[in-house]
Amino acid sequence: MWPGRTTAAAPSGRKGAVVRVDTGQKVVALTFDDGPDPRWTPRVLQLLRQYHAHATFFEVGLNVTAHADLVHDVLADGNEVGDHTWDHPDLELMRADQVGQEITRGADAITEVGAPAPKYFRPPKGLTDEAVGVLANANQYRTIFWDLCLERFVDHTPDMRDAVDDMLTRVRPGSIILAHDGGIPDRTKTMQTLPMLLEGLKARGFKMVDVTQLLADAQNLNR
Ligand SMILES: [Zn+2]
Repeated sequence: MWPGRTTAAAPSGRKGAVVRVDTGQKVVALTFDDGPDPRWTPRVLQLLRQYHAHATFFEVGLNVTAHADLVHDVLADGNEVGDHTWDHPDLELMRADQVGQEITRGADAITEVGAPAPKYFRPPKGLTDEAVGVLANANQYRTIFWDLCLERFVDHTPDMRDAVDDMLTRVRPGSIILAHDGGIPDRTKTMQTLPMLLEGLKARGFKMVDVTQLLADAQNLNR
């Protein structure tokens, strides 16, 4: 999709954003967007526990406010929460001050339910432009993208086993994997294929961690 190095010359607006990290270690970060959602988040947490995995949840402020108990469950299992705006708008269509409000309001929703202030920001749909990148930086958030998205592989095919296998061949050390525990229309396919993905990653010897751990591992290796 776009250059897969933190240090690569990224397209405008993606400067300083992380897509994946360079590491020789068999480690990937798991990220879940658009939750928390009582239909899907508990199942994701159950699977993460089963596979001794951790993840970063990029949560929507509206959902955080509605389901504070789920935010607490996410944190209690040792996962972390990032900012995915207040109500998931298309930031590219908004004025800079509106974008700033979306980022701040999303973060406020997270801290208001007692969670730590988020360190990471992910723009809805991965869309961003120069203004969004600058604003996220100004608010001292690290913008986190991904290099592989589960739903892109499995949502438009009848053969989910093949789709997951295809995805697994593309996972590299330092990959950032995106899946969804919320959003539209429903996440039935995600729930069906997530166990296959986690099993496949485990079988290939990948450790599954949150973004903070992935960045720390990469830094240690490059030291
Ligand atoms: Zn989203």
